[in-house]
Amino acid sequence: MSANDQLPPSTEEREPLPLSLLNDLLYCERRAALKTVEGYRSANEHTNRGDIVHEHADLSGFEVAKGVTLLRALPVWSRRLGLNGKCDIVERRPDGSLFPVEFKLGKRKKWENDDVQLCAQALCLEEMFSISVPQGAVFHADSKRRRELDFNEDLRARTAEAIQRLHEMIWSSRVPPAEYRDACQECSLFDVCLPKATGIDSRATRLGRQLFET
Ligand code: SF4
Repeated sequence: MSANDQLPPSTEEREPLPLSLLNDLLYCERRAALKTVEGYRSANEHTNRGDIVHEHADLSGFEVAKGVTLLRALPVWSRRLGLNGKCDIVERRPDGSLFPVEFKLGKRKKWENDDVQLCAQALCLEEMFSISVPQGAVFHADSKRRRELDFNEDLRARTAEAIQRLHEMIWSSRVPPAEYRDACQECSLFDVCLPKATGIDSRATRLGRQLFET
């Protein structure tokens, strides 16, 4: 093995990753790894409700309302960032600007993982159309309200860092250990992950460590 084999591939060579994985990564790094490195997919009440919320937005097409063209399920990608995916809705406004909208379950609330996922969509649109995409919105299905956000420098930096972390995790095939916390209750991979049994502080893990230390 040459020294170069141990380096992550260059941006041009790496496999494009689904940008929705950024949401998983920021929810829980182990969840993103179980999905991609181990190939697990599982549904629960929350993911099923999420699928229903996306049902309308997943049908590609467009409609025009008050001079704004609504592009549904628009495929997006970035060669530079090694990402691909879909925007639920992109509004094309009369001045030619683009405004991505992501549909999410729940009431209007700020979640970093949603913001980063939407910002990654904006970065893809910017690369594809060579324009600036300064703002977008998350539509919260339960409260039927949108939360607009600016793709400012801070959010762009956090998004770039998450994209880099995702590529490194996939490249190294690393699956982080479980760490039980509140978010585990709503995780669709709970039964696969078994965070209480396999977590770094679990009894089984402690016994395993002792076994190898003696
Ligand atoms: S159950 Fe918890 S630790 Fe396991 S993948 Fe889900 S959120 Fe992460």
